[in-house]
Amino acid sequence: PSALRTAQKNVQTTNLGSSSVQAHYEISEDRQPSPTTHRAEQQPLQPLRQAPKKPLTEQKGPVGVTKQRKPTKPSMSNAEIMAKLNTVALNIDPSPYFNMIEKAGQGASGSVYLAQRIMLPPKLADEELGNNQERLKPGDKVAIKQMILSKQPRKELIVNEILVMKDSRHKNIVNFLEAYLKTEDDLWVVMEFMEGGSLTDIIENSPSNGSKNSPLTEPQIAYIVRETCHGLRFLHDKNIIHRDIKSDNVLLDTRARVKITDFGFCAKLTDKRSKRATMVGTPYWMAPEVVKQREYDEKVDVWSLGIMGIEMLEGEPPYLNEDPLKALYLIATNGTPRLKHPETLSLEIKRFLSVCLCVDVRYRASTEELLHHTFFNMACEPEDLTPLLSWKK
Ligand code: ATP
Repeated sequence: PSALRTAQKNVQTTNLGSSSVQAHYEISEDRQPSPTTHRAEQQPLQPLRQAPKKPLTEQKGPVGVTKQRKPTKPSMSNAEIMAKLNTVALNIDPSPYFNMIEKAGQGASGSVYLAQRIMLPPKLADEELGNNQERLKPGDKVAIKQMILSKQPRKELIVNEILVMKDSRHKNIVNFLEAYLKTEDDLWVVMEFMEGGSLTDIIENSPSNGSKNSPLTEPQIAYIVRETCHGLRFLHDKNIIHRDIKSDNVLLDTRARVKITDFGFCAKLTDKRSKRATMVGTPYWMAPEVVKQREYDEKVDVWSLGIMGIEMLEGEPPYLNEDPLKALYLIATNGTPRLKHPETLSLEIKRFLSVCLCVDVRYRASTEELLHHTFFNMACEPEDLTPLLSWKK
């Protein structure tokens, strides 16, 4: 399944040209969905856990809605982007300072490598750039994401990602360490390395996946959801909405630390703009209010967290065997998704999911409220995740 997914990702990447346009749609407010229009335009999508984990491609709009492309006009000029990058990146060639060990993953915007720090660049050794002393030691393992800027149609999303990561130091957020502009075009972003891989990898490689049982036990799910919820509460306290919470964007390390990553689609709510309406995210995880183009706030992340809970219980989010447009339609019309085997689950987890997956946002829990939920009383200890983390060996 991983190979299939990777292939699918690549197909998507080719279609998109870049991750940066992932599901960044705007639908005209005055048009209402009519389930029949534009079906012919949909490209067939590969099925399951083969279905695109990446947001919809440019060719696919929500069911029956004439999608207006996000205006090609970027929100920042190239000069502004470079100016911002120069505030966080060192203008030096980082190659002498890292020993590249192996490729750890491939994203739409670039490749991620496991590397070991050989020594500190003199600049970093002198001035503590980015407050990262704890991870600046020679010998440390780090993850390096390499991106060619000229290949990114929406560079501002990358800048967004780096700035959010840099300002979000928390135990449940993947830590930004440094960034380098090797050349004007070649950006290296150094982060802490999460050896356990993504939660998607863990779900897919879990011994019980594919059997009737849940890939993870309820105590394991409670632990992972609680840790993710801590990270989300931290972001929400800073008025940041993540907007793309899913198992692919939750990474684990060998000590079972759970951290949120991928901040390209984050939005900052302000007093002037306390709600958002742009359709952003990955279809299967999107909250109904996002799909319906209503105004929304940070509670969209709580819905996606609930969907991530279902991924851990059932191996995949609801409607993953449907194409993304149909899935959006089903999310908008069905409301709270049905669980496949509710009779096998505890009352606590069902109650927890129901307060995450509540269509009426007023009754959907906040991350603060979730952290007091009795479901977390059953959370396991970090050691109990060890069997799940051994999939890479
Ligand atoms: P993009 O942000 O370009 O759209 P993406 O969200 O698909 O890409 P990346 O963030 O580029 O993914 O990561 C690609 C893969 O690299 C991930 O699926 C994960 O397996 C691995 N990876 C990313 N960050 C780290 C990290 N800090 N530590 C370990 N592995 C990582």
